[in-house]
Amino acid sequence: MRALISNDDGIFSPGLAALERAAAAAGFETFVVAPDREQSASSHALTMHRPLRVVKKAERQWTVDGTPTDCINLALCSVLARTPPDFVFSGINSGPNLGDDVTYSGTVACAFEGTLLGVRSIAFSLDYGPDRIPFDYTLAEDVAREVILYAKEHPPAEDTLWNVNIPHGKAKGIKATRMGRRRYGDNVVEKIDPRGKPYFWIGGVHVDTAVDGSDLMAVSEGYVSLTPLHLDLTNYRALADLAGLEAQMDGRIG
Ligand code: MN
Repeated sequence: MRALISNDDGIFSPGLAALERAAAAAGFETFVVAPDREQSASSHALTMHRPLRVVKKAERQWTVDGTPTDCINLALCSVLARTPPDFVFSGINSGPNLGDDVTYSGTVACAFEGTLLGVRSIAFSLDYGPDRIPFDYTLAEDVAREVILYAKEHPPAEDTLWNVNIPHGKAKGIKATRMGRRRYGDNVVEKIDPRGKPYFWIGGVHVDTAVDGSDLMAVSEGYVSLTPLHLDLTNYRALADLAGLEAQMDGRIG
């Protein structure tokens, strides 16, 4: 089986090399198509207003001067069109993608794009250590390999990607979880640049809400978290609340 490996931390990230080794150890032939530089928090952006360059760096390894989504799209539609992968693996991200991080994450966006294009996809992220630097991917690599081995036998459901978050240090086990709640706010830094103009820097401090069974809860308790995500963002309960919309608006619109 073949695996496309990418990330949002760029081609030189040690997490990418760890994931490549994990996939190879799980029996995959690996193909890396990754951004040529850091692209964290690029979400599901696709580059549409300038050309993209693909550079072959080694056998089965290419870089793209674009976003993580560009990498997956180009890989599946062009670079690897003749050797289509069975899976997309993204990561291992330097830092977690928990709760609402998912909506900002380039790591998870790789898995979104893979899923949209019909390839089963898994995103892997490593939580920060005590000094906020997830410097050691050794244990995370072992976790990734085991999850990949499991996925070979029990692949994600159709239109569903797995968002896997790995705690720092040795995990107590793995939990299937739901997406929790995390927001970034109240910590924008405003300063003055050397030319007297103000600049702003969005802080990295987050506010988490405790949700039972969430990804945040599992990782904070020392477990690997695996959240199945789908791309249908519809709130079905809210759809029921709008039952009167069409009748009420009849004759006012259209
Ligand atoms: Mn990243």
